[in-house]
Amino acid sequence: MAKKRIYEIAKELKLTNKEVIERLSASGIKVKSHASLVDEEEARRLLFSPASAAQETRKPSAPQAQKSKIELTPKLLLSEGVTVKELSAKLQIKSKNVLKSLLNMGIIASINQTLDRDIALEVCRQFGYDAEVISFEEEVAQEEKVEGEKEVVERFPVVTIMGHVNHGKTSLLDAIRESNIIAKETGGITQHIGAYQVKVGERGIVFLDTPGHEAFTLMRARGAKVTDIVVLMVAADDGVMPQTVEALSHAKAANVPIIVAINKIDKPEAHPKKVKQQLGKHGLLAEDLGGDTVCVEISAKKKIGLELLLEMILLVADLLELKATPISLGKGSVLEAKLDKARGPVATVLVQDGTVKVGDHFVMGAVYGKVRAMFNELGQKIITAEPSTPVEIIGMQSVPQAGDSFQVVRDEWKARQISNYRQRQLRERSLARPSRLTLDQLFHRMKEGTTKELPIVLKADVQGSVEVLSEALSKLSSDKVKINIIYSGPGAITESDILLASASNAIVIGFNVRPEKKAKELAEAERVDIRLHTVIYSITNEIKNAMVGMLEPTFQELYLGRAEVRETFRIPRYGIVAGCYVADGKITRDAEIRLLRDNVVIYEGKIGSLKRFKDDVTEVRSGLECGLGIANFNDIKIGDVIEAFHVERRAEKL
Ligand code: GDP
Repeated sequence: MAKKRIYEIAKELKLTNKEVIERLSASGIKVKSHASLVDEEEARRLLFSPASAAQETRKPSAPQAQKSKIELTPKLLLSEGVTVKELSAKLQIKSKNVLKSLLNMGIIASINQTLDRDIALEVCRQFGYDAEVISFEEEVAQEEKVEGEKEVVERFPVVTIMGHVNHGKTSLLDAIRESNIIAKETGGITQHIGAYQVKVGERGIVFLDTPGHEAFTLMRARGAKVTDIVVLMVAADDGVMPQTVEALSHAKAANVPIIVAINKIDKPEAHPKKVKQQLGKHGLLAEDLGGDTVCVEISAKKKIGLELLLEMILLVADLLELKATPISLGKGSVLEAKLDKARGPVATVLVQDGTVKVGDHFVMGAVYGKVRAMFNELGQKIITAEPSTPVEIIGMQSVPQAGDSFQVVRDEWKARQISNYRQRQLRERSLARPSRLTLDQLFHRMKEGTTKELPIVLKADVQGSVEVLSEALSKLSSDKVKINIIYSGPGAITESDILLASASNAIVIGFNVRPEKKAKELAEAERVDIRLHTVIYSITNEIKNAMVGMLEPTFQELYLGRAEVRETFRIPRYGIVAGCYVADGKITRDAEIRLLRDNVVIYEGKIGSLKRFKDDVTEVRSGLECGLGIANFNDIKIGDVIEAFHVERRAEKL
């Protein structure tokens, strides 16, 4: 590495010449003056070595200490899974020195070994560099930017259809596909590949064939943004229904423009005006009512208004100015993936930018591969796929996940390296998934200035409590943090709620309701904070305290198990005893219990009696039957669920 003069190094590190000379002398390098030439690499290493730092702290001249705190400079961008060799190149030092510094940390590495994020950052720090780790996809984008300007073209919009069940989502997709799909006459049988492109004059629109907001939000929770526009279906004879509101919240949280399709206008009982008024109450005011929401009246069955709907989609797309650069490396998102018996792993990918060609090497989440073949929605082989094209790809080493990113890479070795690194991270379960906001961290993050909003998904037993709670919570907003209820509704906490919270970094509050079993598992996997309460005051109090950093040590529930009530008996002296089947975990005699009816909490209390056959027992495990009486409570019904838990005091993590 090149030699540099002391004053040059001092300037770069924002130190005084004297400080550099003193530090180097302390490390045993003789320097005559600020114009002396030294080996830069060696000097940087020594300046940041513990010996030099120790010298610093030993110095009696206190005022100096503050000033001579070294500012790390300049900022380096590292890709995830950087190897020792790549890191050395970035730092412009010999690999030998990186290996040495790793060894000092107790790590024996080889030159092609990938380094974990924290270790790579520490090495940079030791050589005087502040660094930041970006994803591999971000790095490719950066590199392509450096390569210079490329031709930018308009790309087709990608649309997801959402709405209440039976309002006609599938019918609309089918109707559009039938009348607009390209190359139908070639005899290709349309197959379900999760998305398809339709032609509208010279232009096109991609429809994601995964109706339902779960799929939509699942993608978003995985970090994939695929939808440009949401079409919200509302049946004109049925009006706004609970899932309409849910879909609307999901679309709004994703910050995607919404077009309303009022369907089934062929029906005599259709009432499109009423639908518009209802939507107005949910913040979607139609254009003819003075708002700016595009509403199109259609009939998917009778094929009325479909052209107008497509036109409107293109009009909204024009405002979005959707652009892509076809002559860059292909990239996109995985919409679906499966293992096909004959073809091996198959993934439906939406190409979002660049061009994918047969033979390209790629990374797909934690999987790598080479495009062996590509198919369009008609099952026809294609050689290249441009932006906004859904394609089926074969050639992966294993099956990726929906929502994974897809990135073409220049060399196979790089693809392998990233995939290996990501698989290892997955195995270690430390995949750098953005940590979700929890109530415990709220104050901390507010202080850091990284949070100015507390998004909440609110579920309660009845609509009345939803309204009361929404109002009470909204009132808690302060000038430091805004409470934002992104979705509220009655009923149990579902998987869809957790996905929405996960994608929006929100916490979930349940009032007198419980999470469904699957939702609970998903929340654990996605690290979503769920707060369950049975008193309104305790909810507002908890949020208030979290906002001022005074969150009391909370009591954490330790789930034990659940039992289903199959039979009820009236037993003199005991009252009602439930004949139960323990479906999950275990029920213990000393546990606290909660009686659930349709996932709504009916009662909380203690067990009065627990028996197997005629004997009193201390616990009953999953798969066994038991007789269970609840202390001071008799209103048990067949079909109820009894959940057992312990309460533990949770240490504060603020
Ligand atoms: P999805 O659950 O939203 O996918 O709804 P579907 O597309 O399965 O439609 C539900 C029912 O509504 C089916 O019986 C359709 O035939 C019917 N349907 C869909 N669109 C229309 C329409 O425009 N007019 C009438 N009369 N019926 C429709």
